[in-house]
Amino acid sequence: MKLNSIIDKITKREWTDTLISKYIGSYKQSWFLYAKDSDIRGNAGSGGVVTSLLKFLLDTHQIDGALVLGNWVLGNQIKPEYKIITDSKELILFQGSKYITTNFTHDAVPMIKAFQGNLALVLLPCDTWVINRLRKNDPSLDKKVIFTIALFCGHISDPELSQVVIKKIKPLGKSLTNFRYRVGHWRGKMQFYFEDNSLIEKPFNIFSDYQNLYFFCARKCLRCSDHTGYECDLSVGDVWLMSMKDNEIKHNAVISRTDAATDLIIQAMQQQILGGYPVGIELIADAQSRSLPLHYNVSARSKAGKLLGIKIADTVHERVRLVDFLIAFIILFNFRLSTTVKGRAFISRLPRKIIKLYLYFLKALEIL
Ligand code: SF4
Repeated sequence: MKLNSIIDKITKREWTDTLISKYIGSYKQSWFLYAKDSDIRGNAGSGGVVTSLLKFLLDTHQIDGALVLGNWVLGNQIKPEYKIITDSKELILFQGSKYITTNFTHDAVPMIKAFQGNLALVLLPCDTWVINRLRKNDPSLDKKVIFTIALFCGHISDPELSQVVIKKIKPLGKSLTNFRYRVGHWRGKMQFYFEDNSLIEKPFNIFSDYQNLYFFCARKCLRCSDHTGYECDLSVGDVWLMSMKDNEIKHNAVISRTDAATDLIIQAMQQQILGGYPVGIELIADAQSRSLPLHYNVSARSKAGKLLGIKIADTVHERVRLVDFLIAFIILFNFRLSTTVKGRAFISRLPRKIIKLYLYFLKALEIL
């Protein structure tokens, strides 16, 4: 047996129906899928499934527009921006995850309301709560939103984290003109484009090491238990199984929660838009095994928050083991540190080796 498969076996958990229902919610079917179009796949942060589905929906006139999030660079800073795409050729410009805070209610909702025609929305799980609440009280909005895709979400970060990383990478005197958080195989690379058309690529972990330690974590994420988007039609995320690491094609984990979503996936596979195969929901949980319990356990963050003066309402009433408490304490301590000017300066000066060691320690706790 290969080493990567052995690691998967060691980290495998027993996923009971109760755990699946808590961490993933209700579902119809699940798959590991990828975009058949190699251009879409090559430009993706993951398997390219979301872009392929939006293209398929637009090209077959099942929708008139698709809400997506892009990021632009203004004055060397990253600016996230929602857009409703009506021409599928533009989708490629908006590919990839954006690990930065946005204001969905303020920026996206008015755009959705003003749009004339049927829409598919690409959302974070918390955005699905917002739009679904509005849909309940607004029949015309409800009719307009015909499909929702939620991206698996660990948490997002305040813009300061992107700035810390840009500051470390950007050569003096050169302006940043474009930026990609993650593109390519496995964990992927960050891309930084400059005014002289030069490109610097760095492993994504120059960003994700800080992110996984919850430095600069968005405040709202501390009280969030929804990792996969309980309330959407289709959930899509990464497959973090070591046995998939050497697979030439990066796959997405995909969960349908409505019959319409299942039908769409079947259509897309029949039309050779998507490749891949069905998998059990337990394998999807294995592919996110570290994040699911950690994200769900708001109770641990609520308890640890009391020690640090951070008020977090406990919405899940989960069992809190000593190790859960310790993890939550580290997360909240790091969050708190990055909210102060001195703390931010301290974090950005920490040597990469210390950051790495600190992260290995936290990850070791997370698999206990
Ligand atoms: S962790 Fe939850 S609250 Fe934070 S961005 Fe993701 S879905 Fe939203």
